[in-house]
Amino acid sequence: MPTHHFIANRRQPTRDDQTIPVIDPSDGQVFDHIARGTAADIDRAVQAACAAMGDSLDGPWARTCARDRGRLLADWGRAVLEHADELARVEARDTGKTLHTARNDVLALARYLEFYAGACDKLHGDTLPYETGYTVMTVREPHGVTGHIIPWNYPVQIFGRSVGASLAAGNACVVKPAEDASLSTLYLADLAAQAGFPAGALNVVTGYGHEAGAALAAHPGIHHISFTGSTVTGQRVAEAAARHHCPAVLELGGKSPQIVFDDADLDAALPVIVNAIIQNSGQTCSAGSRLLVQEGRYEAVVAQLAERFRALRAGPAASDPDLGPLVNQKQHERVRQILASARAEGLTEAARGQVLADAPAAGYYQEAVLFRDVPQDSVLVQEEIFGPILVAQPFRTEAEALAMANTTPYGLVAGVWTRDGGRQLRLARQLRCGQVFINNYGAGGGVELPFGGVKSSGYGREKGFEALLGFTTLKTVAIRHGTID
Ligand code: NDP
Repeated sequence: MPTHHFIANRRQPTRDDQTIPVIDPSDGQVFDHIARGTAADIDRAVQAACAAMGDSLDGPWARTCARDRGRLLADWGRAVLEHADELARVEARDTGKTLHTARNDVLALARYLEFYAGACDKLHGDTLPYETGYTVMTVREPHGVTGHIIPWNYPVQIFGRSVGASLAAGNACVVKPAEDASLSTLYLADLAAQAGFPAGALNVVTGYGHEAGAALAAHPGIHHISFTGSTVTGQRVAEAAARHHCPAVLELGGKSPQIVFDDADLDAALPVIVNAIIQNSGQTCSAGSRLLVQEGRYEAVVAQLAERFRALRAGPAASDPDLGPLVNQKQHERVRQILASARAEGLTEAARGQVLADAPAAGYYQEAVLFRDVPQDSVLVQEEIFGPILVAQPFRTEAEALAMANTTPYGLVAGVWTRDGGRQLRLARQLRCGQVFINNYGAGGGVELPFGGVKSSGYGREKGFEALLGFTTLKTVAIRHGTID
């Protein structure tokens, strides 16, 4: 029932029966509809979540102990694995992801649920030294009701890292998936109900970002909000949340560099570099979208990558090519416009992949493109494109590479390819970002590894145990019991 929200463990229609068409990016055709949620629907979902928590943490979900929360998350994770093939097919059709990418996402989601299932009962406070005659302890408590605004690029993974951690910490969740990627989220909510989560622990309202999403961020009943998406929308969400003193975690994308030194193991590096930009057709916040290569290997690296790029095929998600279509017409046009300006600027294209001949003309296909010798102030270097576009630049020294890597508005991830141990450590310390990968690159991976950015890439951390801490608030309890005279 995709035209119904999921509130209090039931599919409920939107109040005024308005719907949004669901388009298959592989052929541009409408194949389903989802509910167009309103502020009233968000309010219903928040009320259901509040009831699950209770006014004094006495609701059915707030009273579920950590061990039992863990068991529910584990059961839900097993259900996800049992339905993995169908979930992957739903996701591939809705978002244009290739089947292998969609399946990897579902497996990552199951792993998030498994990780947070195991972490529920490892979350604890401390006892603190204080004055004689006192015992002081800290208690980790859930925030209450958490809001989750999920983008379309990794719907099930981002759902897993955000909702999984929040439920594990004992919060009740209200989720607004992207209008271009809501079907898998509704499917997951049904599986949660079947796994036995009490009504109101998890609620999903579909709809447009500027309507349902904005209403969620502004709702005074939300006590914490997680957002993944663009910098501009992230600012709006944080401003709306700040008006009711609601903390936010913002994951806002990046322009992440991969830095290849003359001593790098190219056999290991090149396949990883290609995958880090074509994965999910480049629609990855942590995509390795900039390539900085030391001058001694620059020509060799560009030539070898060009050969690999020419062989890359974009096509319909269901035929599982190297790249699926981009998610929607807006994203397709945005990438095409950026490429047109790059051509007008006279930038040099080193290679271009192909679109399969049988790909429907109305689909949102974009070939992989490799640019070379791009100046540092170019839009291609400074702006997130969110398409399969890799930008190569030469550098001479380590200091120059560091300056180029750090000189964009973003700071999410960086990759460094070198055998020099001192250089590995120096760059790991001086790169301005939230994750550094040395002789590997982890776009999209690492359930256990805290993830998030600095500068325009946002703040707060998702994934790993760090995310779990972020979904709690700390209470200090000071007990004056005196001493035995
Ligand atoms: P947005 O930031 O607008 O969308 C991300 C999420 O926010 C979606 O769920 C969207 O819902 C929701 N949203 C939109 N407007 C509001 C609002 N006013 N209040 C609350 N929620 C809102 O990104 P776009 O989809 O427009 O993509 C534009 C660019 O953003 C991309 O090209 C890419 O550069 C970047 N991006 C980065 C992502 C990342 O992983 N960091 C993910 C997605 C995009 P809905 O889609 O239903 O409108």
